[in-house]
Amino acid sequence: MEDAFRFADAFGPTRIIHIYRPTMEMKAIVVVDNTSCGPAIGGVRMALDVSLEECIRLARAMTWKNAAAGLPHGGAKSVIFGDPRMHAAAKEQLIRSFASALRDVTDYIPGPDMGTNEHCMAWIKDETGRAVGLPGVVGGIPLDEIGATGFGLAACVDVAGEFIGLDLQGARVVIQGFGAVGRHAARFLAKKGVILVGASDTSGTLADASGLDIDKLIALKQAGRALRDHDKGAKLSSDAIIDIDCDIWIPAARPDVVRADNVSRLRTRLVPQGANIPFTLEAEQALHARGVLVVPDFIANAGGVICAAIEFRGGTQHQAFDHIDERIRANTRAVLEESRRDKALPRAAALALAERQVRIAMQMRRWH
Ligand code: NAD
Repeated sequence: MEDAFRFADAFGPTRIIHIYRPTMEMKAIVVVDNTSCGPAIGGVRMALDVSLEECIRLARAMTWKNAAAGLPHGGAKSVIFGDPRMHAAAKEQLIRSFASALRDVTDYIPGPDMGTNEHCMAWIKDETGRAVGLPGVVGGIPLDEIGATGFGLAACVDVAGEFIGLDLQGARVVIQGFGAVGRHAARFLAKKGVILVGASDTSGTLADASGLDIDKLIALKQAGRALRDHDKGAKLSSDAIIDIDCDIWIPAARPDVVRADNVSRLRTRLVPQGANIPFTLEAEQALHARGVLVVPDFIANAGGVICAAIEFRGGTQHQAFDHIDERIRANTRAVLEESRRDKALPRAAALALAERQVRIAMQMRRWH
């Protein structure tokens, strides 16, 4: 018994669902963390190296993210073990089979995450009647196509930059992971005068102190190619992205990429966390002690889920952008002010904000 509940604490997880279909070797885990604020929204991640612990931590991050954003939704996450680049027909089979097991999990609304996209969400909605991040033709706001999370990150950088006296005109940004989050963050920041001096994907790192051409890199990725195929800039290993000197360093790929053992290599002033749980707590503490401002994931990257929640209610893309801008600016400011006042880690201030919301909601519910 104890083993099954080793992750349980004062907030959840309320349910951990293990899905296994031996005939097609489909293995997945769904974690519904806390639904006090409403039905949980959380992404479906497909990768070969996902784990139960990662899923639990990501589900909790969604509880905090949704609560901090003032959304009437709890937090959840699911992971499917598999290579997201598998053949499209096999992927559809796998996703539909996963979704069919979720028909009765009515307090979980799946959304896209690494390795899944709007088409996957359309299959899930077809099987279960619920999903967000859908294609436009079935009522979705294509959040990755319009760059909802990258737009929110840029709003966060605006506020946090002002906080540390960083002029965005000519500021240098480095982005780890040039996917849905990373490439749009680069695009929206460029509109504020920020220069992209380094970017990475699984193929490696591309660096150029004089600035990379964002549109060309986006076109390259959209053509299914790798950043290292670009004809300009220095080609380095994936890990070398940590060493590039910059003013803003955006993690937009995997969890725990900056840890106690490599945090000393990071040379930057501001880290708005695009990815979920990208740094360990030790790394955030070390950066705080060095005066590097880290805006925690569930404040900085809430743009996607705000957009999803607006979609769920039948809202428009325009309303989603307005809401993201307003909410992320207000939250970034509130967290940074509280952190400065209490001399606390921004994550501690952000957690206090989110926990307050969840505790209030829990008091209003019978079984929470
Ligand atoms: P994505 O699959 O579109 O892009 C991920 C990118 O990261 C790809 O370019 C991939 O090549 C790269 N990558 C993977 N491993 C890497 C590594 N070790 N080093 C360098 N690059 C690597 O995924 P996404 O939707 O952009 O999500 C990225 C992160 O942001 C995830 O942590 C996700 O949970 C988080 N997030 C996404 C959204 C959203 O709206 N999509 C919202 C909030 C948070």
